[in-house]
Amino acid sequence: MDRRSLIRNGSLAALGLVTGACAPRTAAVATRPAASRRPPVVLSRVKASWDRVIRTTIGLRPHRPAGFMLRADKLDAKTLIHNYGHGGSGMSLSWGTASMAADMAVSHSDRRAAVLGSGVVGLTTARELQRRGFEVTIYAAAVPPDTTSNMSLAGWTPTSGLSQADARTPEWTAQLRQAAEIAYRRLQLLVGPKYGITWIVNYGPTENEKAAGGRNMLLPESVQTGGVLLGPGEHPFPTTYAVERPEMRIEPSIYLDALMDDFVDFGGTVVIRKFETPAEVSALPEGLVVNCTGLGAKALFGDPIMIPLKGQLTVLVPQPEIQYSTSGGARVQTAEPGIGIHMMPRSDGIILGGTSERDVWTFDVNEKERQRIVEGHIELFSAMR
Ligand SMILES: Cc1cc2nc3c(=O)[nH]c(=O)nc-3n(C[C@H](O)[C@H](O)[C@H](O)COP(=O)(O)OP(=O)(O)OC[C@H]3O[C@@H](n4cnc5c(N)ncnc54)[C@H](O)[C@@H]3O)c2cc1C
Repeated sequence: MDRRSLIRNGSLAALGLVTGACAPRTAAVATRPAASRRPPVVLSRVKASWDRVIRTTIGLRPHRPAGFMLRADKLDAKTLIHNYGHGGSGMSLSWGTASMAADMAVSHSDRRAAVLGSGVVGLTTARELQRRGFEVTIYAAAVPPDTTSNMSLAGWTPTSGLSQADARTPEWTAQLRQAAEIAYRRLQLLVGPKYGITWIVNYGPTENEKAAGGRNMLLPESVQTGGVLLGPGEHPFPTTYAVERPEMRIEPSIYLDALMDDFVDFGGTVVIRKFETPAEVSALPEGLVVNCTGLGAKALFGDPIMIPLKGQLTVLVPQPEIQYSTSGGARVQTAEPGIGIHMMPRSDGIILGGTSERDVWTFDVNEKERQRIVEGHIELFSAMR
């Protein structure tokens, strides 16, 4: 049997032989004959309805168009290391920039360190300093559950919010790639109930048969998982295709409390304090300071390019049987500047998101966006087979 007649006969074994493991998965699925389809994926349905909404939360992502700031500086006689501006990717990247910031700190003679901020970036930086033998005090205006990090959807999104138009240097891209590799490995090692990190399957309902092949060119291949394109009859969504890929999920309230517990167990101290000026920071007893104040760095250290990307999440009653997430899938798109809708199941609720309002500082609920996100998910899940 020659190669052409193998394809014509449509046997699954034959298709596997002729396409080979390295062929793009999109191409394999697009040509897959009906008889060789995968058995349909069967998923429990998210009960999306207005009467199951239990809360709506707001967080201001600390966005820096030039990318996060990771740099050692001087503040009077002190060493001041900046580690802030992670935008929509702080939950993903924080172990990476924390580890790199702590490496910058080791040459400092004083073994006492101050960390400003107690979101995910401050907590992971404090832990990395402790692991290198520092005695660490965290100074923060707010601690979990009252940080932006607690308001996160918290999937693996290391380049979220970065647009093509923004100027970033090759040096910064190298930092990003290094941070992503460190963080990806570290988060994998924290998988389990203690830190609230799990691998689940994400589905992206789509009409685009090339959607599974997309790669993020800013990131190393080693931090990206492949997607499989499911064709008609292979998935329950009301679209022609759905992309299936593994995804890491972090539950912020479990994760941040566990990080705080670890910090205190290793002898760390927390001081609730808001700094208004660099002079107040300069008066601290520690000779080494790491600035992890997120959006607060704009006012405290005068970074003019820091802006918020306001994010809003609407939460439905938890459904423990839902163990998959979704990205996209709404047929009705509005002219709003939001991003695609997405659903993440957690023990504290079914999280519905998909908003990013640039340079919006208010914590008020945007009712129009709430309607778009909830209605989009009602439409998606009511049409699910
Ligand atoms: C809706 C939404 C969805 C998101 N989804 C994801 C996602 O899927 N994946 C992902 O990786 N990221 C996501 N993010 C982004 C992520 O939450 C942020 O990047 C991250 O929380 C930033 O952490 P941080 O520690 O820098 O800031 P914060 O959590 O804001 O912590 C800053 C700390 O600094 C303190 N501080 C600030 N100013 C001062 C001051 N002057 N004096 C003393 N203390 C000060 C604060 O009190 C706080 O303790 C999302 C965010 C939102 C809002």
